[in-house]
Amino acid sequence: MKIGEVRLWKLTRRMVREAMSAGHFKGAIIPTGSTEQHNEYLAMEHDTASALHIAYHAAVDLYPHVLVTPPVPVGLSEHWMDFPGSLTLKPETFIAVVYDICDSLKRHGIEHILIVNGHAGNGPLRHEMADFNEKLGIDIEFCCYWEAYSKEYMDRIVGSGKGVAHAAEFETSFGYAAFPENAHWEEVDYEKADLKIKSESYAKEDPAAFAESRDLAMAHKGRVMINEAINWVAEKMATKMNL
Ligand SMILES: [Zn+2]
Repeated sequence: MKIGEVRLWKLTRRMVREAMSAGHFKGAIIPTGSTEQHNEYLAMEHDTASALHIAYHAAVDLYPHVLVTPPVPVGLSEHWMDFPGSLTLKPETFIAVVYDICDSLKRHGIEHILIVNGHAGNGPLRHEMADFNEKLGIDIEFCCYWEAYSKEYMDRIVGSGKGVAHAAEFETSFGYAAFPENAHWEEVDYEKADLKIKSESYAKEDPAAFAESRDLAMAHKGRVMINEAINWVAEKMATKMNL
């Protein structure tokens, strides 16, 4: 089978029009992420880049049925605002942005939307789905791509036992596999950074996540977890769309 472009922002209006009049692209994936601190060594874009990576490859698997919209690159990250560089939207802003993208897709005849989220803090969006469905009258669902993993599965792969924790072994392994240029260990000295983290729980978790990432993260772990999530998202979308 011939594989073609699925990323909406790479297509022309002619390509979208012709695909839609041929009955293609009846489904869309909206990746949602964050721009927030990911410890001393991992790039801020991690959650956005990982959601997009999973969404893109799942849509390619389902070509020509599913489009991927540009990712929503800023999410709910108020809890990281003590770290310079983190960006956050207010919950109502974030929800309104995602709603308007769903509405735009509906107006072009898209009937099935899956929001593939890469940032745990965006969880409140899940509770808006009944409202989105009711207002727009199409099939809209929210998931986090790591819902692909059972606890047993994660325990087998993630040695730290921390599962999908933020900026720890899981995300770092994903980064090594998908975008190794986002890991910057050079010149990192955690002790010297003297972070003065205000939250008591983060002050404990942050150095632990740092050490686990440094000692346990591996590209091959990332690769198997990525494949598992791509297959899970593709399967979920195929089921929704009766493919
Ligand atoms: Zn993250």
